[in-house]
Amino acid sequence: MFLSERLPARREITMADECVFCRIIRKEVPSKPIYEDHDLIAFPDISPVAPVHVLVVPKEHMVNLNEAGVKDVPVLGKMLRLASKIANEMGVAESGYRVVINNGDDGGQIVPHLHLHLIGGKGLGHKLG
Ligand code: AMP
Ligand code: ZN
Repeated sequence: MFLSERLPARREITMADECVFCRIIRKEVPSKPIYEDHDLIAFPDISPVAPVHVLVVPKEHMVNLNEAGVKDVPVLGKMLRLASKIANEMGVAESGYRVVINNGDDGGQIVPHLHLHLIGGKGLGHKLG
């Protein structure tokens, strides 16, 4: 018998176990969801950069758009639709808002779980980078 056959099966520690947004989705980390369904959760950013700053997060863990495939197209569409719905409900649809997805280091991504930022309630200017 090989040594590995005698060892107890060890549970893999996956990225999703440690991921702060997965932990919010599993209610292990508190948040105040603005919206939640089978696919998505939306909650206020803990460190807002504008009067309206909401994160829209798919419940399935993927690091960023690099990991999104054809099967994820419906959920990506739902994220954009939800952003516009929340913008409307929060009263910034008419005044305007920005939707941002940071990807990777140069994109300024800090939390490695795909999410979009809905930012509004003040003039954001034209400069992007
Ligand atoms: P990004 O640079 O796109 O990865 O942005 C991650 C965002 O997540 C930042 O704006 C953080 O303020 C926000 N954030 C991190 N942890 C939490 C949390 N526990 N609840 C709400 N927002 C969070
Ligand atoms: Zn995650």
